[in-house]
Amino acid sequence: AHLDRIDQVDESVHAFLHVSSEDALATARDVDARRASGDELHPLAGVPVAVKDVVVTKGMPTTAGSRILEGWVPPYDATLVERIRGAGLPILGKTNMDEFAMGSSTEHSAYGNTRNPWDLDRIPGGSGGGSAAAVAAFEAPLAIGTDTGGSIRQPGAVTGTVGVKPTYGGVSRYGLIAMASSLDQAGPVTRTVLDSALLHELVGGHDPRDSTSIREKVPALVAAARKGAAGDLAGVRVGVVRELSGDGYQHGVSARFSESLELLRGLGADVVEVSCPHFEYALGAYYLIMPSEASSNLAKFDGMRFGLRVEPEDGPATAERVMAATRGAGFGDEVKRRIILGTYALSAGYYDAYYGSAQKVRTLIQRDFATAFDQADVLVSPTAPTTAFRFGEKLDDPLAMYLNDVATIPANLAGVPGMSVPAGLSDDGLPVGFQVLAPAKADDRLYRVGGALE
Ligand code: GLN
Repeated sequence: AHLDRIDQVDESVHAFLHVSSEDALATARDVDARRASGDELHPLAGVPVAVKDVVVTKGMPTTAGSRILEGWVPPYDATLVERIRGAGLPILGKTNMDEFAMGSSTEHSAYGNTRNPWDLDRIPGGSGGGSAAAVAAFEAPLAIGTDTGGSIRQPGAVTGTVGVKPTYGGVSRYGLIAMASSLDQAGPVTRTVLDSALLHELVGGHDPRDSTSIREKVPALVAAARKGAAGDLAGVRVGVVRELSGDGYQHGVSARFSESLELLRGLGADVVEVSCPHFEYALGAYYLIMPSEASSNLAKFDGMRFGLRVEPEDGPATAERVMAATRGAGFGDEVKRRIILGTYALSAGYYDAYYGSAQKVRTLIQRDFATAFDQADVLVSPTAPTTAFRFGEKLDDPLAMYLNDVATIPANLAGVPGMSVPAGLSDDGLPVGFQVLAPAKADDRLYRVGGALE
């Protein structure tokens, strides 16, 4: 049914870069056979999933939305893909994204825009616009995204889906094409909080192949989602982050946010205001740390090891000239912009002024979170300042594009988990997201509060 739906609507939505019909059907048949023979199966066995194209999949093309990886077929599976396959979830295909996960609109994909199913003239968010659009358009019931500064939560908000960025280290990064290694985290995109809990529990948990993986079991997320859905919020302290609400948010976004707070209060939550004074520097710190790490991570795309190789037009094909020709042709403008920013910030003489200062700000933000979590069990804010904007609206103004992530970025800098849960429609009829943040390793709190909001 989902493959049929993809056939019907993906020509206009363009959520997928690759549809793996054969592979998906083979898994579905295998699960059927195992069920018939009485095997004990995972609760999600047979439920299809779409995977963001930044996650490597054995035998299935993986481009990270870039020309530089066109034609590359990975020889191995990411750990999270291994777990998905192991539990018998058919993989429907790979979803579109901003090139190397850099963007908030999916307009930076080298393979064309994904359209928001709510209004095909509008962006589906980014960088994981493909995963969110696939779920919103009923092309897939479950999807995997990655979130470095908001790329699961912001697309979730603007497509009316649930998106979760787990605690840093909660889901293995083995097999994720790295953008910024200290910020990247994979997580679920679904239509309900309970679905996210099921998928998160499946892909999460310790992995010896990722040195930053937490050596603990995933908290009981499904139980927490059920508790929330039953309306049990008694005694939960909900902290409204003063710096992430108020000015700068579209009227309908603020209105839905206030109504959701009322709903939580009605269920017994204790709503308080907290202040995180250094959050105003989060965006600045992020746009130094992220490009710095990305410039280093992307150095491996050299025309020798993966995908595209371009020979120089004239003169000798020395290694350096092949690299320059390949990277010149293979990377898009936004990727080049960030490589230049990152190498500049890391260069001798500027390192302390930029990268060093940004790391200090990162520590201050972590301390803000620690203080706030003394006063509240979860923190909340709108996920994104506005609903989905139109194609082209912010494409020529990188700063305007970066500002979409003002509310989502602090969580990545501190490694804490975050969820965006649908909060109704704005005055323009488009979806609004409500963000919930919790302390590291307390992802279950997101599910309890998110479950109550559904
Ligand atoms: N929009 C942010 C950026 O462009 C976040 C991207 C992400 O989370 N992958 O960096």
